[in-house]
Amino acid sequence: MKPIISFVALAICLNINCEGQVNTSNATIKKPQQTNKKMTTSTNPYFNKTSKEKINISEQEWEKTLSPELFEIARKKATERAYTGKYDNFFDRGFYYCAACGNKLFESDSKFASGCGWPSFFETYSETSVQYITDKSHGMIRTEVVCGRCNAHLGHVFDDGPKPTGKRFCMNSISLVFEKK
Ligand code: FE
Repeated sequence: MKPIISFVALAICLNINCEGQVNTSNATIKKPQQTNKKMTTSTNPYFNKTSKEKINISEQEWEKTLSPELFEIARKKATERAYTGKYDNFFDRGFYYCAACGNKLFESDSKFASGCGWPSFFETYSETSVQYITDKSHGMIRTEVVCGRCNAHLGHVFDDGPKPTGKRFCMNSISLVFEKK
């Protein structure tokens, strides 16, 4: 009997552990991780590089549409780890678009090597490219930058940038899509 009891006990433990992981580690993103593995900008019906129409859809629709990593940053305001983004040390000439909706956000001429670990720009492509929100999270007062078309979280802007603006738009690479000129 003892081996059987031990086996049952082990099985119960394993079940508890598995459920514990599902319940405590982002259970809400489990579904899109399984269904959106092949998500690209071409499979995103809201991605449009010419439209100026505002996008106002539910968070559930965004979750179904975006990759899990983009959803976490664009809609949950997460931040990618410093020095890991594909555009951090990248200086090709072209334009940067919102990865969630295709809105044109930055031009490479305004990109500079800030050394902060995230792609940095001293100005946006146009006045309507982004919008600003006061962010009081983490015991700081910062200015959050979101997409002017779809409200996706992009990053923050600081006043320690180079001339001529003195601004440093500190962006998540995952929130951006680059295209050569
Ligand atoms: Fe957008």
